[in-house]
Amino acid sequence: MTRIFLDNAATTQLSSEVKQAMLHAMEDLYGNPSSIHNEGRRARAAIEQARKTVATAIGASIGEIFFTSGGTESNNMALKCAVRDLGVRRIISTKVEHHCVLHSLDALQRDEQVEVEFLSLDAKGHISTEELQEKLQSTDTPTLVTLMHANNEVGTLLDLEAVSAICAEHGAYFHSDTVQTIGYYPLDVSKTKLSFCSGSGHKLHGPKGVGFIYINSDNLIKPYVDGGAQERNMRAGTENIYGIIGLAKALSSMMEQREVLEQQVRAVRDYMLEQLQAHFKDIMINGDPTGQGHYKLLSVSFPASPKADLLLLNLDIAGVSVSGGSACSSGADAGSHVMDALYPGSPRKTIRFSFSHHNTKEEVDSVIEKLRSALSV
Ligand code: PLP
Repeated sequence: MTRIFLDNAATTQLSSEVKQAMLHAMEDLYGNPSSIHNEGRRARAAIEQARKTVATAIGASIGEIFFTSGGTESNNMALKCAVRDLGVRRIISTKVEHHCVLHSLDALQRDEQVEVEFLSLDAKGHISTEELQEKLQSTDTPTLVTLMHANNEVGTLLDLEAVSAICAEHGAYFHSDTVQTIGYYPLDVSKTKLSFCSGSGHKLHGPKGVGFIYINSDNLIKPYVDGGAQERNMRAGTENIYGIIGLAKALSSMMEQREVLEQQVRAVRDYMLEQLQAHFKDIMINGDPTGQGHYKLLSVSFPASPKADLLLLNLDIAGVSVSGGSACSSGADAGSHVMDALYPGSPRKTIRFSFSHHNTKEEVDSVIEKLRSALSV
């Protein structure tokens, strides 16, 4: 049975050109990038070329890009370094951020290093810029605003430019978890001012276990991992050279084809929405997919029923991979903090369909059939 993978917000398939670039590096670049001999210098040059590629893709300077182990580490680093090194004492966020942000905030709050305030959200998951402005006006406490660009469960998009302008006006630092949008939406940090943002290889058809953080050069941060001079002293440890090369290749090829890929993905996602609405009564569409929502995501809640409870499992058995909320780190379907925040107490069963350019309308037709059979519609 050919499987249908509609869980591309959890991760994406490695593209063949990324695989080729990584294989080439594995065969050819075995030097330690910190060594000064020929093999080392060639490995170093490849990393610096990758850094330039990532910097160029988002309008940053080369010195503002640091490679990490992924989005989780980048977000931890931004928040924890801002508190430790920049004197941030208050963080404004929302309850629908990824756990790597929310749990970092819990840790910082537990250690009594910061106070955390959450913005309210409307039913589609949007913040109110007026409320953000009021909060920023209310005190002189050094503040960082952390708001994700696209929510990974419902897809709701933040108006980065508006928030960036408000933060600049009030002298607040601004971190955005851009893990779901890097490679999918244009971003130019030379125009849209951010203090920090993050990217992850495996969300854009690149490898897992590698990502990057953009740190605006105005922010003087101390090392996050001690023990070596790698990543300009910020993150010690021999670099994940194959991952870094794969990440850069993935990002550059996503950006080169960005508009075409967006059209393809959006068409399949919109077709799924149309078909769901045609075949299922009483479904709820979460987030803002037809407005300010990520084109790769569609979150749908089905009325509560014993069959709906088994939907994820039965779709999996029928060859369709989707997820209930986010890909939970424990592997259990433990419900979703995003759905709890947006639709408290709802007994509905939520399925997140997330698409890539590998998906087709024929696959959507097949998924609709399987859904109808699983729900006996
Ligand atoms: N932030 C968001 C919005 C995500 O969707 C994810 C991945 O699930 C992460 C951060 C974590 O990224 P990584 O898997 O690279 O650690």
